Amino acid sequence: METVTTVAALRQRITAARKAGKRIGLVPTMGFLHDGHLTLVRESVAACDVTVVSIFVNPTQFGENEDLSSYPRDTERDLTLCESAGADLIFMPPVSEVYPEGFQTYVEPGPLAEPLCGTFRPGHFRGVATVVAKLFNMVQPDRAYFGRKDFQQTVVVRRMVRDLDMPVDVVAIDTVREQDGVAMSSRNAYLGEEERARARCIFQGLFAAQWAFDNGERQSGRLVDLAREPMSAMDSLQYLEIVDAETLQSVNGTIDRPVAICVAGYIGKTRLIDNVVLAPSEADLVQSAA
Ligand code: AMP
Repeated sequence: METVTTVAALRQRITAARKAGKRIGLVPTMGFLHDGHLTLVRESVAACDVTVVSIFVNPTQFGENEDLSSYPRDTERDLTLCESAGADLIFMPPVSEVYPEGFQTYVEPGPLAEPLCGTFRPGHFRGVATVVAKLFNMVQPDRAYFGRKDFQQTVVVRRMVRDLDMPVDVVAIDTVREQDGVAMSSRNAYLGEEERARARCIFQGLFAAQWAFDNGERQSGRLVDLAREPMSAMDSLQYLEIVDAETLQSVNGTIDRPVAICVAGYIGKTRLIDNVVLAPSEADLVQSAA
């Protein structure tokens, strides 16, 4: 495994790999890696010849009062984990390499970036789309791997790839959870012991809704009520919403297409997000169309 910090050094390695006809996979991350990230890396290693992991805490996706300066970092550990997962090349640029002096060109996503996290983190998805577009230009991957844990991010990135004709296959990987159901997240490191125990309520709410859905409940209002009950243990809830899995528009009433139940809120000072995708079976869809 090799580590590079400049676009020039990255390009050199990528050009050589391309010339040798290798298939390139990219896993963009902000570091402080956990098994969720490593699952993405392993998927790429299994499907591609060369796996590039980028580790970059992207300042343009953080709001003014967010946790950019305190975002957890542990480069040594990240490198060991990447190596053990089979990564080939680590791209770990300084901020000045990605946003050189005079930088002023951004990718502006459309309405998919407005609901859910977009409401509470204005400009967040503009920062995400911009850095992902730049990473795609730098690495020119055949495939790029993203986690469903950041559901809206996967939808926004897929849209960008289609709208801007980027020659990249976007692969979305299911959320990896701790044994007690809590979604793995670098931000879990902020949680104290009592807060970490309370964080379970997010999964408990989502799981209650998922269970009811799997047992035939199709009314969005009832599913949201079921999910909301355990989540009262959060310090505040920013949103808990059932949205169409493609358009991210709110779904009120009967669920007759794939949706995601998405949640964001605070445990103490830590903002956590999670979701589950609820997909009616083919048989359901035929019945509701009849
Ligand atoms: P981050 O470092 O938080 O920006 O995450 C980098 C990538 O890992 C994103 O595509 C995330 O969606 C993905 N990811 C983060 N947590 C998880 C998880 N628990 N399961 C699966 N993927 C994840």
